[in-house]
Amino acid sequence: MAEQMLKFVSVPQRMPDKRPADQRRRDFGEIYQAFSTDQAAQQSSRCSQCGVPFCQVHCPLGNNIPDWLKLTAEGRLEEAYETAQATNTFPEICGRICPQDRLCEGNCVIEKGFEAVTIGSIEKYITENAFEMGWVKPPKPRRERKESVGIVGAGPAGLAAADMLRRMGYQVTVYDRYDRVGGLLIYGIPNFKLEKQAVERRTKLLVEGGIRFELNCEVGRDVSLATLRDRHAAVLVATGVYRARELAAPGRELGNIVPAMDYLTASNRTGLGDAVPAFADGTLDAEGKRVVVIGGGDTAMDCVRTAVRQGAKSVQCLYRRDRANMPGSLREVKHAEEEGVEFLWLTQPLGFRGRTGKLTKLKVQRMKLGLADAAGRAAPKPVEGSEFDLKADLAILALGFDPEDLPAMFADPDLAVTRAGTLKIDFRKFETSLPGVFAAGDIVRGASLVVWAIRDGRDAAQAMHRYISARAMSGAALAAE
Ligand SMILES: Cc1cc2nc3c(=O)[nH]c(=O)nc-3n(C[C@H](O)[C@H](O)[C@H](O)COP(=O)(O)OP(=O)(O)OC[C@H]3O[C@@H](n4cnc5c(N)ncnc54)[C@H](O)[C@@H]3O)c2cc1C
Repeated sequence: MAEQMLKFVSVPQRMPDKRPADQRRRDFGEIYQAFSTDQAAQQSSRCSQCGVPFCQVHCPLGNNIPDWLKLTAEGRLEEAYETAQATNTFPEICGRICPQDRLCEGNCVIEKGFEAVTIGSIEKYITENAFEMGWVKPPKPRRERKESVGIVGAGPAGLAAADMLRRMGYQVTVYDRYDRVGGLLIYGIPNFKLEKQAVERRTKLLVEGGIRFELNCEVGRDVSLATLRDRHAAVLVATGVYRARELAAPGRELGNIVPAMDYLTASNRTGLGDAVPAFADGTLDAEGKRVVVIGGGDTAMDCVRTAVRQGAKSVQCLYRRDRANMPGSLREVKHAEEEGVEFLWLTQPLGFRGRTGKLTKLKVQRMKLGLADAAGRAAPKPVEGSEFDLKADLAILALGFDPEDLPAMFADPDLAVTRAGTLKIDFRKFETSLPGVFAAGDIVRGASLVVWAIRDGRDAAQAMHRYISARAMSGAALAAE
């Protein structure tokens, strides 16, 4: 069915059907059903094809959204997929987990008055259809090159770079300390946002394309960065940020106060069929517990919704600012509220209390918002005399992440870092202070988004190609002299 465009006046916005909250609470399946072909075409036809496409401008990948919406509306689905994948290595992942409400859809022109085009769901439809039709192919090069590249980190930044470099013909090896490929896509983000088969399906294609993975291999422990620099023509560091921010509060040493990544990794591993002792013995399982999650970002949202699914008795989320000032996606808050999570806005923990070494309650305090700080965000201030207790059997700390000490981890003090500990790079070349060592993703930006990691990985791959080509040319010139 070929649809005309600009139908936003007559066709209302429609998301794919969302499973009812009481059903969602009982499993880890994705919460939205898929669009049918007709629904995808109809929803695409709402695009106003504006002269300056703000959706594209605000997409970190510069995705050519109006074009693939038009192709979808016209039923030209293979071309729609080709256009979507031309700028995005993993459109099936972005379609599922990009915070579209803050990026493309939040800037859709018809949002003002008519509600945005449902870009993310259409992107997911186009790519899932392409997988079904067999249009998604492994990254096979037209010609092989003899040079090899090493990539440290199999998260979205490393994988996007690996895909692109392999297509250019390089011999690519990706090293990761985890036993599975995907980084936060596999062990951080829960199934109800991103089913793991989508990550594993993509990994299979990368392997079929000839990318080698050395898993359970921690660079700095099992192999040194210096060895990788000798082994490869260029190295990319895409190690993400994993040092959990701590909460210095009395009682922090009590049992049953856990970092978010430990909790989420245990849940994801259990879902993947691994035996996780700390889950089996109840330490990282929320079943039957009163759970309090501290934080207001994407990680906190994933924790509260995971706890609901594990059968927690109650789930509360503490955040010291208000709803409007939280860093996480408001769409996620809405899903969490529907699923029974209680948000305590403008509330911060003061300390933890317990019995026999185990947490029993948190002492918390109400906050109010003061003047904006240097970053323009209202600074929270305590309200005098507003302390109260919250009963809890499990507290999960989701306060954000900082980089590990990379110069120490890689035993190379010449690897320059910023004050925040992220890797310093020359932003035109993506090169670190070590010649031939490049960096991309969260380890450069600090905790960010998958779509930015993909963008950085793609850009770094181009920069590595320029670097290797320039060295090959200067080598050939020297040999000719
Ligand atoms: C719980 C959670 C939920 C999130 N939800 C979303 C979301 O919904 N949408 C979104 O866009 N973003 C989300 N994010 C952010 C997003 O996941 C990250 O921005 C993105 O994964 C960063 O990609 P990366 O490749 O830089 O790093 P990562 O995905 O962290 O991958 C880094 C990889 O490097 C490996 N590694 C680290 N050190 C070494 C070493 N020394 N040797 C070998 N391997 C090493 C790690 O094992 C890991 O596999 C979320 C983050 C978290 C924590």
